[in-house]
Amino acid sequence: MRFDILTLFPEMFSSPFQESILAKAIEKGLIEVRTINIRDFALDKRRIVDDAPYGGGQGMVMKVEPIARAIEQVKSEDPSVRTIYLTPEGKPLNQEMARQLSSRSHLILLCGRYEGVDERVRELFIDEEISIGDYVLTGGELAAMVLIDTVSRLLPGVLGSDRSAEEDSFFGSLLEYPQYTRPASFRGYEVPEVLLSGNHQAISLWRRKEALRRTWMRRPDLLSKASLSEEDKKILEEISKKDVS
Ligand code: SAM
Repeated sequence: MRFDILTLFPEMFSSPFQESILAKAIEKGLIEVRTINIRDFALDKRRIVDDAPYGGGQGMVMKVEPIARAIEQVKSEDPSVRTIYLTPEGKPLNQEMARQLSSRSHLILLCGRYEGVDERVRELFIDEEISIGDYVLTGGELAAMVLIDTVSRLLPGVLGSDRSAEEDSFFGSLLEYPQYTRPASFRGYEVPEVLLSGNHQAISLWRRKEALRRTWMRRPDLLSKASLSEEDKKILEEISKKDVS
C-alpha cells in the first residue's frame, strides 16, 4: 500500500517511519510512504503557499494552486488514488474506517497548516475528510502519522502475527482483555491463576469475560454495536448484577 503525504514539513516524517514495525513494513515493501513538499508546487519564485483570507480575519489560508498541482501530479501517475484531507471537521477516525482504508492500494494524505486550506481544494479534489479527534492540532502531519500507523498495522504481514490485530481493542467492538507477563507475582499483586493453568478453554472464557467487563465499565457505548452471543449477554447480566450489588 502506498501513502503520498502532501505537507509543508516533510522532515517531520523522517523519524516515525524509521522505527520498529513500520520501518520493517517499509523494508519488506508492504507499505511505501512518500512525502511531497507542497512548496515545490508554488507558482512564484518565493514559493508562497499561503495568503490572507478573503473577507478579513486572523491567520493565513493555504492557497489552492500549489495543492491542486501537487494532487494532480500524483493523480497523473495513478488516477484511482483516494485523496484524504486531515481536518478537525472530518469524520472521526475509528477502527472500522481504518479497516476500510486498508483495502485501498494508494492514498493521498493532505496535511493542512495555518487556518487550513482554501475551500475550493475540498470541493474539487478531496474524496474524504478525516479527523483524529475533537481537538485542534497545529497541522495535519501528526494526524497523517496516526492514520498511516493505524491502517498499516491491519495489512497482512505487517504485524508479527496476523492474529494480533484481531485481538486488539475495537476489533469486535470490544476493548481488549487485561494482559500480563512475567513475573507471576509483583509486590503481592498476582497474575490471575487461570492464565497460569494451561487450560486454553478456561483462558479464552476468562479473556472474553474480562473484555466484556472492561467494555461495560469504560465504554458501554460500544456494547450496542458489538456482536454478542447469548453467552456474552449472560456474562454481561452477571457483571451488571455484581456491580450493582
Ligand atoms: N481553523 C481550522 C478549524 O478551526 O477547523 C483549524 C486549522 S488547524 C490549526 C491546521 C491544520 O491542522 C488543519 O488544516 C488540519 O489539517 C490539521 N488538524 C488540526 N486538528 C486536526 C484533527 N483533530 N484531525 C485532523 N487534522 C487536524
